[in-house]
Amino acid sequence: MAGRRGPGTLGRALTAFALTASLAVVCTGEAARTPACPPARGELTVADLPAGSSVRDCRAVGRLVTHDGAGLAVPEPGITVSVDALTADGSAHGFTVAVAADGTVSYAYEADHARARPRRRADAPASCADGAYSTAGRKEYGTYEWFLGDGPLPAHLSRAEARHAFEAGVAAITASRNDCGYDDTVTARARYLSTTSHEAGIDREARCVRRDGLSVWDAGDIGPGAVATTCSWSRPVPDGPDELLEADVRFNTHDYAFTDHPSDACTHAYDLRSVATHEAGHVFGLAHAGQGHENLTMYASSFACSTAARTLGKGDVLGLRSLY
Ligand SMILES: [Zn+2]
Repeated sequence: MAGRRGPGTLGRALTAFALTASLAVVCTGEAARTPACPPARGELTVADLPAGSSVRDCRAVGRLVTHDGAGLAVPEPGITVSVDALTADGSAHGFTVAVAADGTVSYAYEADHARARPRRRADAPASCADGAYSTAGRKEYGTYEWFLGDGPLPAHLSRAEARHAFEAGVAAITASRNDCGYDDTVTARARYLSTTSHEAGIDREARCVRRDGLSVWDAGDIGPGAVATTCSWSRPVPDGPDELLEADVRFNTHDYAFTDHPSDACTHAYDLRSVATHEAGHVFGLAHAGQGHENLTMYASSFACSTAARTLGKGDVLGLRSLY
């Protein structure tokens, strides 16, 4: 599978993921056996549409494919889609579907070692002493232009307040904001455009189901497993990471409480700016730092009432510098 992919595509760049062709019907680099097509209706698993399948032959574009609780709509040829869930308990993990220009499907899964089983933050290296990072094989080559959905927002914030909180999260990434003494050499750029009646293309089970051309940040019900989710669509670039086309972010206001100002009385609410910063990290191509890196912004699980992830740790900054 990976052997057929050129440099700069998923196979080379997904450092945090293990490309897996575990399904017996796939023989790496051989086209002799074509996997059977899936049933014509219903949701698919990766076993129904194994790596090496053709979305053209199987009419699979737009079909929902799931793996271990994560799901994506199969993109058209030439497009890669990734889901990154930020969890409260470390149970979720990333899932990527790439469709090559010829229609061939491949998958990437967040590796087991990158899964978060949160330990005490006091036992992990301090954020400025921890250089761990992973990148997701994509980046924003231009300016990330994003919209704010016109529906309900987290923490009962006004639209202006929510916009400022989200902008602060995005700016923490584009300016590699940190308390570790690192200068900002990151060239990533972003611009807020306006509110929109479009919605993030994320369904009630945190699945990436719709790319509509606008990158939208909003809030809603994405199922109890995710505090927030980012869906990213990208396309291959010769000799470089994939180019981001669209990234949608949704905060789970159905199952979790958020606050813009955690107080001493905070017991369970998530700091909106911390979560926004983490999600913006995904937007700009960072993947999760693995277990043992609980003090980095890109750690895969969120900690209620903590504002620590508003500023980046060493690994978060080094990850951005590797891309920008
Ligand atoms: Zn995440």
